[in-house]
Amino acid sequence: TRIRPSSKRCAVIGGSGFLGRHLVERLVEKGYSVAVFDIAQRYEVPGVTFHQGDLCDKQALLKVLKDVSLVFHCASPSPACDDRNLFWKVNVEGTRTVIQACQEAGVQKLVLTSSASVVFEGTDIKNGKEDLPYAKRPIDYYTETKIQQEKVVLEACSKEKDFLTVAIRPHGIFGPRDPQLVPILVDTARKGKMKFIIGDGTNLVDFTYVENVVHGHILAAEHLKPDSPLCGKAYHITNDEPIRF
Ligand code: NAD
Repeated sequence: TRIRPSSKRCAVIGGSGFLGRHLVERLVEKGYSVAVFDIAQRYEVPGVTFHQGDLCDKQALLKVLKDVSLVFHCASPSPACDDRNLFWKVNVEGTRTVIQACQEAGVQKLVLTSSASVVFEGTDIKNGKEDLPYAKRPIDYYTETKIQQEKVVLEACSKEKDFLTVAIRPHGIFGPRDPQLVPILVDTARKGKMKFIIGDGTNLVDFTYVENVVHGHILAAEHLKPDSPLCGKAYHITNDEPIRF
């Protein structure tokens, strides 16, 4: 029989990113031992080990995952890059590689950062629940691969294999060190390119504070057990109130 690694030993794939770093910092505060796996190292935190590598490389993943019981997967090419091949290679094929590596290494839980855009068909959604179907016509290549990625992860959930999975679906994330959302909005406004209104000005958009997104990930991880309803499910994550946009 295999000796189970401590449930407080985890890895964050994409841990150098905006969300990943907030997640790493909170996990350390909560007493987890954390290994970061990312194509780039952008910071140092005492007690966190960094492993530079591509998630498409199973051997590189195996080295990091062998003593780990819980994996968070929050890596993705930037949605702005619009490179269909890269999205498929990393988000779909790479995620299959992550699952194989987790299973070979004996990891018991995988928490995926998905996206609320997986159910967005281009028309307004109010109070959307998780039983909405996946978008048949995703709005871009990024979303197309986020749908496939989520399916692959949720289908891999298996009590028999002692491998449980769950997906968290934030929409826009804001907070300290946000590299995209707010800086791009501010920049666009400064250039005078926001002098038009889409709709009648009462549209609402769902932005979630990064620490709430982190909280959702950790709650999901800690409640993911063989008999829990979370197994193989996706959860939207949001603040209480959407923001008038
Ligand atoms: P980010 O770009 O800041 O972080 C992504 C990280 O993934 C980066 O550190 C990058 O180096 C790493 N990465 C990319 N390709 C990799 C590879 N092949 N191997 C290993 N690491 C790789 O992005 P973020 O905003 O922190 O997003 C994190 C996750 O949240 C993503 O899955 C994204 O789809 C999802 N998400 C983000 C938002 C948002 O508003 N930021 C909204 C919904 C969903």
